[in-house]
Amino acid sequence: MTLQSYSGGCHCGKVHFDVTLDAARVISCNCSFCRKLGSLLAFTTPDRFTLAAGADALTEYRFNTRKIRHLFCNTCGVESFARGTGPDGKEMVAVNVRCLDDFDLDAPEIMPFDGKNH
Ligand SMILES: [Zn+2]
Repeated sequence: MTLQSYSGGCHCGKVHFDVTLDAARVISCNCSFCRKLGSLLAFTTPDRFTLAAGADALTEYRFNTRKIRHLFCNTCGVESFARGTGPDGKEMVAVNVRCLDDFDLDAPEIMPFDGKNH
């Protein structure tokens, strides 16, 4: 596991965060939401995630089991991260690595996740 620090955010710049996570492997999920969004996800703990700007610009969307709080910018519509609870019951943050500044999208190993059947 290699933790690295990144900055990231939405498209218009209202939502901005600093995060430390391991992006060597990212999740490509096939659930009804992710397949439309196309996000590539890396996970981290809330203490490694700082929302620097945009708390008041976020709109929340939940579906299905409603465990994941999908948070998208209400100006540009980009979902750069989500908050939720992991299988172990702990709070976690799912970051869309496509929204990390200067992140090499060809670098990570992409791990398919069968979210459709979970
Ligand atoms: Zn935005």
